Amino acid sequence: MTRVKPSDDIEFDSEVPLLIIGAGAAGLCAALAANESGVDPVVIERDAVPSGSTALSAGLIPAAGTRFQREKGIEDSAKLFAQDIAGKSHGEADAKLVQVVAASAGPTIEWLADNYAMPFEVIGNFNYPGHSAHRMHGLPSRTGAELIDRLRSAAEARAIPILTGRTCETLFPDEDGFIEGVEISGSETIGCGALVLACNGYGGNPDLVRRHIPEMADALYFGHPGNQGDAVLWGEALGARLGSLSGYQGHGSVASPHNILITWAAITEGGFQVNREGSRFHDESLGYSEAAAQVLRQPGGVAFDIFDVRIAGVARQFEDFRNAEKQGALIIAQTLDELAPRIGVPADALKEEANIEFGKPDRFGRVFEKKLEPPFCAVKITGALFHTQGGLAIDTRARVLRKNGKPFANLFAAGGAAVGVSGSQASGYLSGNGLLTATVLGRIAGTSAAKL
Ligand SMILES: Cc1cc2nc3c(=O)[nH]c(=O)nc-3n(C[C@H](O)[C@H](O)[C@H](O)COP(=O)(O)OP(=O)(O)OC[C@H]3O[C@@H](n4cnc5c(N)ncnc54)[C@H](O)[C@@H]3O)c2cc1C
Repeated sequence: MTRVKPSDDIEFDSEVPLLIIGAGAAGLCAALAANESGVDPVVIERDAVPSGSTALSAGLIPAAGTRFQREKGIEDSAKLFAQDIAGKSHGEADAKLVQVVAASAGPTIEWLADNYAMPFEVIGNFNYPGHSAHRMHGLPSRTGAELIDRLRSAAEARAIPILTGRTCETLFPDEDGFIEGVEISGSETIGCGALVLACNGYGGNPDLVRRHIPEMADALYFGHPGNQGDAVLWGEALGARLGSLSGYQGHGSVASPHNILITWAAITEGGFQVNREGSRFHDESLGYSEAAAQVLRQPGGVAFDIFDVRIAGVARQFEDFRNAEKQGALIIAQTLDELAPRIGVPADALKEEANIEFGKPDRFGRVFEKKLEPPFCAVKITGALFHTQGGLAIDTRARVLRKNGKPFANLFAAGGAAVGVSGSQASGYLSGNGLLTATVLGRIAGTSAAKL
C-alpha cells in the first residue's frame, strides 16, 4: 500500500543520511555518485536481486562527444543531441532538462567506464530513428542484465548497502514537505536526511496505465512488474507537480508468441512491416515507440518484420535476437513467394510492398535507401508497452517540484520515477531516453542529495 503520512513525532527504527528507493540503473547510479561525494547511501529494493526494467533492456545509452565516438571517428556534440531529443519530443520536453541531460550524458558514460570499468563501445553498424549521429553506447553483450550486474557489483565493491526484498510503502513528510523517513514493508521505519525516488514508472500498474495511457491498456507490458507507480502515487499525495503522464516508450517489434525483443535494426537497415493481409500500414522510419500502437491496430494485433539475411547478421549482435532465432521466431526463405505462405500472408501483396521505389517518399512518407536481397527473413511480432515516460517534475538538480514549481527540500527523483524528456506522446520517445534519464539523472540526483 503506497501512502503518505505526517511524520509527527515518529521515532524511526534507524537513521541514514540518504535513502534511495529502487536499485535499477537510476538508483544505483545515484548511490555510486552519492558515495563518491562522501555520503553513505542505503538502497531499498523490493526484489531479492536488483534487476528492474534495466535488466530487461538492451542496455544501450545514448551519449554525445564521448571518447568512444572519437575513437570511431564519429562527430557529435551535446548541442546536436539536445536538438534531437527536443525534436523527437515535438518540443514538449523541458528545454533546460534536455540541455543538462544531453550535456551530461557523455561525462556519465565516461564516468561509468573510468570509475567502474564498464567496457562501453559505440554501436556503429546501424542507427536508431531520430539520432543524427551514432551515439548508442552498449556493453559487450548488448544487454541491460550486464549493465545492472556491473552496477550492482560496483555498489557492492564500495560496500553500499542494498536492502533487498523490501518494498518502501509509506513516506513521512513534516508539515513543510521535508521527508523525515519512510516505512518499509509495513514494519521497519527508516529516517533519512534525503530521499531519492528511483522506483521507475507505472507500467506495471494496469489501473494507472488505463487511466493515463488508454491506448496501451490491453497491450503486453514488457517492463518490470515491480514498477507499480509508487513515485507518482506518493507525488500525488504530497502535492508534487506531475508531467507527461500519457507519454510512454512502446515497441512495435516484439516476437510473438515468443515475447522476445526484435531489434529495430531489422527495420532501420531497410526492413519493413506488413500486416496479415501483406500490407504495410505506417512509416516505420519514425521509430519503434510509436510503432507499438500502429501494430496493435492491425488485425489480430500482430504484424511481420520483413528483412533479409544481411540485416539478420546485424541483428545477431543482440542476445535477444539470437534467443528469438533459437526459439524458432525467425523464418528464412529464398524468395518472397516461399516466405509468404510460411507466414500466412498473400504473396502478391507482400511482393507488391517489397517492390520499393528508392530515394523518394512512399505513400507513408518513408524514404527507403537500402534494398533487401534474398534470402529473405520474417518474424511475427506484436506491439508492447516498455515503460512510462510521465512522472514527477524535477529541476536540473533532480529535485522534485511542488505544484507551484518550487522544489521539495530533500526529495529527488530520477529515471522512470521522474518526468522524462519525451513529452506526452509515444512518438516523443527518442531511442535511449529511458537509460539516458536513469543514468544521467540518477548520477545528478545522488550528487545533489549528497550535498544536503
Ligand atoms: C525490453 C526493454 C528494452 C529496453 N531497452 C532500452 C535501451 O536499450 N535503452 C534505453 O535507454 N532504455 C531501454 N529501455 C527502458 C529502460 O529499461 C528504462 O527506462 C530504465 O531501465 C529505467 O531505469 P530505472 O532505474 O528508472 O528503473 P528500473 O530499472 O525499473 O528500476 C526500478 C527499481 O525500483 C524497484 N521498486 C519499485 N517500486 C519500489 C518500492 N516501492 N520499493 C522498493 N523498490 C521498488 C523495482 O523493483 C526496480 O528494481 C527498455 C525497456 C524495456 C522494457
